[in-house]
Amino acid sequence: MGPCVQVIWEEFLKLMKEEAGSQVVETWFKAVTLHAWDPATSSVTLKCPNQFISQWIQDHYHLLLKTHLSRLFHTPIVSLAFENHSVAQGSKRNIIPASMANQTTTLEITHEESASSQDQGPLTVTQPYKNHLPVKQQRSGKTLSDQLQSHYVFDNFVVGSSNSLAYAAAHAVSDSLGQIYNPLFIYGGTGLGKTHLLHAIGNEVKRNYPQAVIRYETSDQFINEFITSIRHDRIQQFRAKYQSIDVLLLDDIQFLSNKEQTQEAFFHIFNTMHEQHKQIVLSSDTFPKEIKGLQSRLKSRMEWGLVADIQMPDLETKITILNRKAAQHAIELPLNVAHFIASRIISNVRELEGGLIRISAFATLVKQPITIEMAKKVLISTTEKRHEDVQLETVIKTVAKHFSIAVHDIKSKKRHYEIALARQVAFYLMKKLTLCSLQIIGKFMGGRDHSTVIHALTKVEKMIKSDHHFSQKTKMIEQDIAMQ
Ligand code: ADP
Ligand code: MG
Repeated sequence: MGPCVQVIWEEFLKLMKEEAGSQVVETWFKAVTLHAWDPATSSVTLKCPNQFISQWIQDHYHLLLKTHLSRLFHTPIVSLAFENHSVAQGSKRNIIPASMANQTTTLEITHEESASSQDQGPLTVTQPYKNHLPVKQQRSGKTLSDQLQSHYVFDNFVVGSSNSLAYAAAHAVSDSLGQIYNPLFIYGGTGLGKTHLLHAIGNEVKRNYPQAVIRYETSDQFINEFITSIRHDRIQQFRAKYQSIDVLLLDDIQFLSNKEQTQEAFFHIFNTMHEQHKQIVLSSDTFPKEIKGLQSRLKSRMEWGLVADIQMPDLETKITILNRKAAQHAIELPLNVAHFIASRIISNVRELEGGLIRISAFATLVKQPITIEMAKKVLISTTEKRHEDVQLETVIKTVAKHFSIAVHDIKSKKRHYEIALARQVAFYLMKKLTLCSLQIIGKFMGGRDHSTVIHALTKVEKMIKSDHHFSQKTKMIEQDIAMQ
C-alpha cells in the first residue's frame, strides 16, 4: 500500500468512526487495509484478514465504502474487490464453510441502496450500524441537545480495580453536582471506558436532576463550534450557550493541544462555570500535566478537583465484561470461550467487544453455537496479523516520538538517563510486540548483544511494577504502536 493510498484509508477510517462509531471500525475495519487503487479502472482492492470479515463488510458497508472512497479519490468507484489473507495462506485458514462462502470477491457497485437506515443500537450483531446520516445533521435542532447516548449507563459499566476510582468519583459527582469534585478529570488509554463514564454521569444526572441542562461534547466539536462562531462573528452566542449549561461533559480534552485561541475560550468558560458551582467533567488520554501544548493555567485547573485514572482491566474483570455484554445482547457465550477471548485480547475493552461481536456474528452465520474452536478461528487472523505487522522501525519511531528523542540517539551508545531509558523501553516493546529474536533486535539497535537486551527487559519489567507513571507511559506507547 503506497503512502498516499494509506492516507486515504486513514481518512476513510476517520469518516467511518464518525458515522458508524468506533466500535464498528474496531470490529470490522481495523485489520483491513486498502491494498490497491487503479485509477484507470476506478477500482479499489481491500485486503481483509479472512473471508468472514470481507463478506461481512461487503454485505453491510459497501454503500459507505463506495460513497466515501469515491469522495476521497475524487472519482466514482466502479468496483470494489476483496482479497483475504487467509486465502493467500492456504485454504486451511479459510474460515467460512465452502457452502457459505461467496466465491465472488469483486463487488460491482449498485445504485439502488438507499442511505436511510438509522439503527443506533450500541452493539448489534444482526443489525450492524447503518447510520449513514452525518452527525452534523442530527444536531441541527434549535434547543441545545444533550447529545447523551442512553445505553452508556452506570448499570452496565463493570467495575474492577482498574477503574473503581473513576467509577466511584463519576457516581459521586452525579449525586451531588458541583459540590465535591469539580472538575472531575478522568484519564486513561483508548477504549477503556472514559466516554462510557461521561455519558453515564449525564444519564444519571438526567434522572436525579430533570431540570439540569446537560451537555456532552467531544473536544473536536468544541473546537469546531468555536471556530465557526468566530468565522460568523457569533462569539456571544457561543459564550451564552455555555452559560446556560449546568453540567458540561467534555471528552478527549487532549485535542485542545496547541489550539491557543480555543484554550483561551475554554479557560473563561471553565472559570465561569466553576465559580457558579456548575459541574465540569473532563476526559483525556493522559494525566493533565502530561498533555502537551496545553496552557499551564489550564493544566493546574484540571487538577483542582479529582483526577482519576482508568487502566486496562485484569483478566477476571475482562471476563465479567464479556459475560455482561453477551447477556445484554442474548449471545450464548460459554465460559471457556469468554476466558479465551479475555486472555487473547490485551489492549482495550473496545477490542474485547469487537472480538465478541465477530465471533457471535460468525456463529449466527453458520447457525452453530459458539465454541472455542470457532473463537480461535475468528480471532486468529486479526490478532496474528497485528504481530506480523509491527515492525522494529515502527517501535523505535514511536518510542522516539513519546520521549522526544531522535531515533539515532536511541540507537547510539549515549548514556544520558532519558536516552538510555527510551532505549530500554524500545527493547522491551520490540520483544513484546514483534516476532523478532533478541539477536535481531540487538543488531537493529546499533549492534548490541542479546545480554544487553535481556538486561533492558528485566529493568523495564521491574519499573512497570514499581512506577505507575512509567507503566502508564509504556502502555500508551504500546497502544500508539498498535494503532499504526
Ligand atoms: P474510551 O472513551 O476510553 O476510548 P469507551 O468509553 O468508548 O472508551 O469504551 C469502549 C467500549 O468499551 C464501549 O463500548 C464501552 O461500553 C466499553 N467498556 C469500557 N469499559 C467498560 C466497563 N468497565 N464495563 C463495560 N463496558 C465497558
Ligand atoms: Mg472516548
